[in-house]
Amino acid sequence: MYFGSVRFFKHLILTVVFGWIAVSTFFAVFFGVKYNMEKKKEPSEPVVSVSSDGVLNVPDGTTVEQVYLALAAKGYGPEDIMEFLRQTDEDAVDRFVKENYGSIAAETAVITEAPETTVSAEDAEPSESVTEVPVSSEDKPYTKLYPELYAEYPESFGEDTKTVYLTFDDGPSDNTLMILSILRKYDIKATFFMSGSTTEKGKAIMEQVAAEGHAIGVHSYSHDYEKIYESVDSFLDDFNNTYNIIKDATGVSPNIFRFAGGSYNDYNHEVYDELVAEMTRRGFVYYDWNVSAQDAVVKPTWTYIYNNVLDGVKANTSNRQIILMHDSADKYVTVTTVEDIIVELMKDGYSFDKLDNTVPPTQIVKY
Ligand code: ZN
Repeated sequence: MYFGSVRFFKHLILTVVFGWIAVSTFFAVFFGVKYNMEKKKEPSEPVVSVSSDGVLNVPDGTTVEQVYLALAAKGYGPEDIMEFLRQTDEDAVDRFVKENYGSIAAETAVITEAPETTVSAEDAEPSESVTEVPVSSEDKPYTKLYPELYAEYPESFGEDTKTVYLTFDDGPSDNTLMILSILRKYDIKATFFMSGSTTEKGKAIMEQVAAEGHAIGVHSYSHDYEKIYESVDSFLDDFNNTYNIIKDATGVSPNIFRFAGGSYNDYNHEVYDELVAEMTRRGFVYYDWNVSAQDAVVKPTWTYIYNNVLDGVKANTSNRQIILMHDSADKYVTVTTVEDIIVELMKDGYSFDKLDNTVPPTQIVKY
């Protein structure tokens, strides 16, 4: 009989042995692959945790960017994350800069920020007009100042397209670098109206802005409204200084600018006509804004900035959305809003671009 025969036991033993080998091979391969997959994931997902008393625990060697991503994955908003970084690790921002911009961070010089003398003028409500044909001012002595300070005024302006122009005033600072990394992520070009900086670090940041293909315009070095709007000479002095700082650092000769405090502000009523005429005669085009983040106020919150921009875009009847924001050293809350604003506006179908001097200017109407 087959059952119980020697052949039967031989076959039984062989079946068990081969079955055991097959099953163990299967499990070995399966768990081996799984283990490897888990192992591969590990380096990009360090265990970042927040204890119940709000202390951030970060393993050694974790980059600031990894911390940011890990906290974002846990559902923390950008403002909370920045607060964590600042409270638990004072060097977080420096490390972020060092990781992303090693050569720049090597320079330890502190950026001197132009004082923000007042914010009221920044919040002036702009509306739209186009620069009037300038009055002849050839006989004025200031027309002879700074013979190099000229740009080529465009023959005509382009079409008004449905475009968002993000503009950042008062840089450069470390916040500028953070904004650059966000813009790079979304492949967006923006416009930086710079106060300028003469430190090595500041110059390197300006150079980085130019190298990444963003538009650079002149803002104001001193940002001292009373001084720069005292006379056309005084304005030109500050403008020329800023212009040269930018040009020396970046190789770019700006042909656009933004008046500190907006083109028509509480400080320049006396000189406004002459100022606009002279700058236009010199070929420079200026841009105010039609949406303001209002981040120049003291301690703006994330929600305040975010809503100001998105509500402002909704209310704006122009196709082009020229959005005023700031990238000076104290404006890190602004930085935390930029990505969310970009994502939201992209959802609404907006495309982004940088300004150039052929974009129809948005300018405050003299009142
Ligand atoms: Zn400013």
